[in-house]
Formats: sequence, structure tokens, C-alpha cells
Amino acid sequence: PPTEQNEYLQAINVAGVSLLNLINDILDLSKIESNQMDFATSRTDFKALCQDIALIFHHRLDEKGLTLSISEAADFPWVYVDARSLRQILLNLVGNAVKFTQHGGITIDYHFTPSNDSQGTLVIKVSDTGIGIPKYKQRKIFDPFVQDSTIRGSRTEANGTGLGLPIVKRLVERMGGNLTLTSERGLGSCFAIELPQVAFSRRQP
Ligand code: ADP
Repeated sequence: PPTEQNEYLQAINVAGVSLLNLINDILDLSKIESNQMDFATSRTDFKALCQDIALIFHHRLDEKGLTLSISEAADFPWVYVDARSLRQILLNLVGNAVKFTQHGGITIDYHFTPSNDSQGTLVIKVSDTGIGIPKYKQRKIFDPFVQDSTIRGSRTEANGTGLGLPIVKRLVERMGGNLTLTSERGLGSCFAIELPQVAFSRRQP
């Protein structure tokens, strides 16, 4: 019957997408670990990058009735970063925030503090009002393949590979920065990225 065929097709599609994600994540992680990942810094409009991310998650956010607010720092300069990696980092962090939040919303907050005329520190925070991460799990989730055991293999929307955060952490570290997590079970989580010595130039008014 057509309805049954449809269900099978959907199942094949879901399995295909999951496998593709898993393969891509494993490839990314091995590339980073074997130092084969190329980092190329270029002049980046960070505000536009955040807007892209908002666009990508627009539909999912609407479906879940969640808000995404991007708190822009005034007078934010051009920053010279590896935009591809930063995009991947934000996709993972915002993706998780959307996945593990049922009420409220997600905030991307960023600011730049110059340390001299040409360089400064870029701080980006992705916060959510989701389920939070208990203290005992907070270190483990940065190890590859660690997921909530109730999630793996279940058919909820929260399926994933357990590789997102290890990739994010390694990317941030390879960019010379660090990633910190503060989270309270039931209240939400905040992932903060600090990238020191980022070159910048002032934007013309
Ligand atoms: P995946 O999302 O594929 O499961 P990740 O490495 O991105 O893998 O995340 C690992 C685990 O960390 C998740 O399965 C979840 O238990 C927890 N986690 C990550 N981000 C959040 C978040 N924003 N809120 C609550 N739990 C989170």
C-alpha cells in the first residue's frame, strides 16, 4: 500500500542522512586529529555569518516555537578568521541548542576586545534554556561518541553521532582558542568560545 511504501521511503531517507552525517563527522574528526585540516583565515563579516546560521535554523525554531536572538556588539570590526571552521562550530553548537531545548530560546552573543591596533580577542557564546547538562557529564561530552544513552538509537529528533562537540572543541583549539561550558541541569547551557590574537580591521561607517 502507498502509505507503507511512503514509510519505508522515509525510513531509507532518515537512515541515509544519518549515515552521511556520521561519515562526514568521522572524516572531519580524523582530519583534525591527523593535522590534515587546512585553516585559512580571511576577512570575515561575523554578523553575516550569524545571520546565515539563523536562516538555516529558522524552520526548526519555528516548528519548536523557540526564539533565536543574536545580540550584536556595536562597532564590531572585520575579523580575520577561518570562516568555514567558525561556521561548522556554530552549526554544531546552535544545532545542539535547538535539539536539546523545548521551551524558551537560544542566544548567540559575541564581542571583540582589541589588545592592540591589529589584534584582539573574539568571544562567542551560544546559550540555551534547554535541558542542561549534569556536572558529571560535562567533561565526558567532549570525548568522541559520548551521547546521552537514552538518545542513541532512539527515534527522537535528538539523534546524532556524538561527534559534534569533540569536533567543535578540537577546531577551537586548533584555532588557538578555548571552549568552556557552563550548564545547570534543567536550566540550560552556555558554550563559550574564546579566540585570542584574532587580526581585525575597522569597518568603514
Ligand atoms: P550529538 O549532538 O550528535 O549527540 P554532540 O557531541 O554534539 O553529539 O553532543 C554530545 C551530547 O552532549 C549530546 O548527546 C547531549 O547529551 C549533550 N549536549 C550537547 N549540547 C547540549 C545542549 N545544548 N543541551 C543539553 N545537552 C547537550
